[in-house]
Amino acid sequence: MKAILTDITKCIGCAECVNACKVINNLPPDKPREWQKNDGLSANNWTSVLSNQKYFVRKQCRHCVEPACASVCPVGALHKTEMGAVIYDKEKCLGCRYCMMACPFGIPRYDWENAVPYIKKCILCYYNIKEGKIKEPACTSACPTGATIFGERNELLAEAKRRIANEPQKYMNHIYGEKEVGGTNVLYITSKDCPLDFLFYYNHRLDKGRNLVGNPDINEPLPNTTKWAMGAVPFAFLGMGAVMTGTYWVIKRRQEQEEKKSSDNPKPDMNDLEEGGKNE
Ligand code: SF4
Ligand code: SF4
Ligand code: SF4
Repeated sequence: MKAILTDITKCIGCAECVNACKVINNLPPDKPREWQKNDGLSANNWTSVLSNQKYFVRKQCRHCVEPACASVCPVGALHKTEMGAVIYDKEKCLGCRYCMMACPFGIPRYDWENAVPYIKKCILCYYNIKEGKIKEPACTSACPTGATIFGERNELLAEAKRRIANEPQKYMNHIYGEKEVGGTNVLYITSKDCPLDFLFYYNHRLDKGRNLVGNPDINEPLPNTTKWAMGAVPFAFLGMGAVMTGTYWVIKRRQEQEEKKSSDNPKPDMNDLEEGGKNE
């Protein structure tokens, strides 16, 4: 299975990865949204670079080995591919946003600009690679420092271990994504003075009472938990379309009103996430 390894110590925050992703996926510029907690991800931004003054961390879908998002989707719009990418079928997506609630990393975003909204996120450049248009994701090939690289997951794990062993004084002895939530296909290594715990697990999961639980410290796959929890939610398939359309118009109006108030687009900042930012 293919994967990405991002080495925080090599990232210079140039955002070439962000730009390359927007270009290859034809993603339009974002409109500023002051009301939205902004970690840089949106329906039009599938990766972002967070900063804490000293280090930069690019954020994207982790392409979980056992994706919670796919486990809760009532119509099977998301699935894990043999390549390792977790992709989605926009034709199937109901816009119910169960995947957004289930994702432990706050990744899927809702496309509020679309008259028929559906979720969007990084797809590991699945179609472009599968069709032979590119050999690796646009973001990894654009990175000028090799901070984010593409390859076989087992080889990237070996590379991460090699770097940590060679410079134990520099690296934290942990590969983020090796075991968390059952493993992910986007791996991170980082400096000793830049722990990623809050960033890696900044979202939530649901307990059996359907309450949101922050910062779970688990190395087990989430689908069993999320399937159980989401199964307990009454779900009216037939009424969902009307509900979502109404919600869309209410939120859209609110968004337009807020956009009139401000043209500032806040810079993503890791500190914003320390209280557990939520995706909108
Ligand atoms: S990070 Fe979230 S959206 Fe991405 S595969 Fe995992 S659960 Fe799904
Ligand atoms: S893998 Fe492709 S879709 Fe995902 S962030 Fe990189 S360029 Fe964007
Ligand atoms: S292109 Fe590479 S160095 Fe630049 S922000 Fe992205 S990961 Fe960091």
